[in-house]
Amino acid sequence: MHELSIATAIVEQAERLARADGADRVSAVTVRVGELAGVVPDALHFAFEVARDGTALAGARLEVEAVPALAWCGGCAEEFAVGMPPFFWCPHCDRPSQELRSGRELEITGVEA
Ligand SMILES: [Zn+2]
Repeated sequence: MHELSIATAIVEQAERLARADGADRVSAVTVRVGELAGVVPDALHFAFEVARDGTALAGARLEVEAVPALAWCGGCAEEFAVGMPPFFWCPHCDRPSQELRSGRELEITGVEA
């Protein structure tokens, strides 16, 4: 389960950010997870509960902000949802687009002491 290594990295990074801020406990962490990041939110929540044990994040809440996968069509000057599995084909003009605008995010956006 690779969510466990991701959760461990989130816990370590959040702990570092909190300590740099002078806090020794974290009550909540917010992460942005793109639709194409390859992370199952339920599995991430479960892994987080395991990873936070014995750290400054013991008892902390994990907030997952899901980011939809959107591609850009230059012809239409519009974004479209690529869905899952991703289909890089503009539904408006029926042409392919490879320009992914969002959906691969996997980042911490907030740490609450
Ligand atoms: Zn188009």
